[in-house]
Amino acid sequence: SLTIFDNSVPMAVFPAYLEDTRQASNRLFSVVDEEPPAPKIGTIERDDTFSIELKDVTFMYPGETRTALQNVSISIPAGSKTAIVGPSGSGKSTVMQLLLDMYTVNAGTILLDGNSIREIQAENIWSKTNVVLQANHFFYGTVRDNLQIARERLKDEEMKDVLRLVELPFTLDDPVLEKAENLSGGEKQRLAIARVLLKRAPVWLLDEPSSSLDVLTEQRIFDHLHEAAHKDTLVLVSHRLTGLEKMDQIVVMEHGHVVEAGTFNELMERKGYFYEMKQIEKSLLS
Ligand code: ADP
Ligand code: MG
Repeated sequence: SLTIFDNSVPMAVFPAYLEDTRQASNRLFSVVDEEPPAPKIGTIERDDTFSIELKDVTFMYPGETRTALQNVSISIPAGSKTAIVGPSGSGKSTVMQLLLDMYTVNAGTILLDGNSIREIQAENIWSKTNVVLQANHFFYGTVRDNLQIARERLKDEEMKDVLRLVELPFTLDDPVLEKAENLSGGEKQRLAIARVLLKRAPVWLLDEPSSSLDVLTEQRIFDHLHEAAHKDTLVLVSHRLTGLEKMDQIVVMEHGHVVEAGTFNELMERKGYFYEMKQIEKSLLS
């Protein structure tokens, strides 16, 4: 099997920061030895937030024979806050990567603001989203360098404020090594969160953005994110089941399927899969 999106190919994973998705996708297609698709010409017209919908999406990673997602439907109204939860390998990150057009679905449709993702330029999607993925892209330079790419004309004061918000005791001149290997997992995650807080795009796609932090720090930072997202659409993949009470929707995945979806209270009352996971988490925490 072939892993295309790993740390050794940051170009394919983080096209937005390099502003060269086309080149990245050409590289991708040369790796999998397929014809590159016709260039996409559509863009998301609105400047404010928009809805996201997966309709009956089935997806296999290139070169794989097993489906990573099977008939997945998720409806995310504009401005709503959705959490995706489920065990490791259930397909959560795959959903996020498909929303960023890093792969093309085998069957079904993904709609962004009601338009098929097949028509929309990947650069456009990246420019409209605040993205934290499980592997984040940092480069050799200073903390300032790594934050500045979030948005044009960022002032030092704005960056310092955000570092305080994510509880990082760094100065803007502190060094960052390649892949931020001088930072701990939790520090890297907080730096990535600082960057999306500075970017201020209208849709937030966060894949386990704070999984390396302790529960209480994670809760504080998640509250900041929730507040910052305000009226924006937010999709959060979470490995923990705490702090999900205020989400509009929780989507529970298992083995590439959506097994349940609803609000926290609805899922708890249903006493199904989410409820069972919650009982296990409770017993582990106590
Ligand atoms: P989760 O984020 O819920 O832990 P993923 O979406 O990463 O799950 O993975 C879903 C399934 O797809 C798993 O079976 C995983 O092994 C497989 N998978 C994930 N990434 C790749 C990849 N790049 N190539 C092939 N298979 C992959
Ligand atoms: Mg994942």
